[in-house]
Amino acid sequence: MAYPTPARESAPSSTRHLSFGSACAARAWRLRRGWDDLLRRIPCDCPLCGGPAAGNLLCGVCRGDVLSARAAAPAHCAVCALSLRGRQCPDCAVLCPAFDRVVAAFDYAAPGDLLIRHMKNRHRHAHARTLAELLAGAVECAAPSLPRHTIMVPVPASRDALKRRGFNPAAEIARALARRLPYALRPELLQRTREGRRQARLPREQRLSSVEHLYACPTPVPGAAIAVVDDVLTTGSTLDSIARAFKAAGAASVTGLVVARTPYGEGR
Ligand SMILES: [Zn+2]
Ligand SMILES: [Zn+2]
Repeated sequence: MAYPTPARESAPSSTRHLSFGSACAARAWRLRRGWDDLLRRIPCDCPLCGGPAAGNLLCGVCRGDVLSARAAAPAHCAVCALSLRGRQCPDCAVLCPAFDRVVAAFDYAAPGDLLIRHMKNRHRHAHARTLAELLAGAVECAAPSLPRHTIMVPVPASRDALKRRGFNPAAEIARALARRLPYALRPELLQRTREGRRQARLPREQRLSSVEHLYACPTPVPGAAIAVVDDVLTTGSTLDSIARAFKAAGAASVTGLVVARTPYGEGR
């Protein structure tokens, strides 16, 4: 079975030790992916409809349903991946984001939102694999493709959220994603500077101010291509704050890899 080999020469020398810079790391990834390929063949019930499926992934019908809303949108913002109705993106017009672009698997709408809500609120940890598979598909189709020396970093959870859920959904999705994609996973590159407020309960304006300087990248990452992994992107304020932290640390680019993008007018 042939997998793409992560290229050493494309990574900036200053961050090679952070990304997939060694043949050893590339071999380890091929082993992880081989194991993941075996798991994909184990029969299971579809996490949405309960029909026949495999590898804890969606059946073909549910996969089509989850991806349909996004596929039907006439266009998407080239930066924040919002499904557009008009020509201009209302989110980017307000935010002027520091991140370079977003890759999203589906729009946060029925029935895909159920997978995310059940994972986060009903402790369905196995859904991380289901969601990561959908996101991996979107990343593999993204144009232009991500650089081979991309470093994946999950959005860190607050202590309150970790206590409430017992796990960080973004970290679980990132871990599952790292078995499918040939990019290094370096969660320690991003830290929270304070506890912060729960975003879901704040109106849009307060979300922007509440995440200012909320994240820090304590290690210099000159020239790095960073991919920030999260479950849902709503206003983009969290990703924007993280992108500012990474760019202050020298990153060349920051891409958001999100499972679901909230359509305009919802949850804002
Ligand atoms: Zn199904
Ligand atoms: Zn936009």
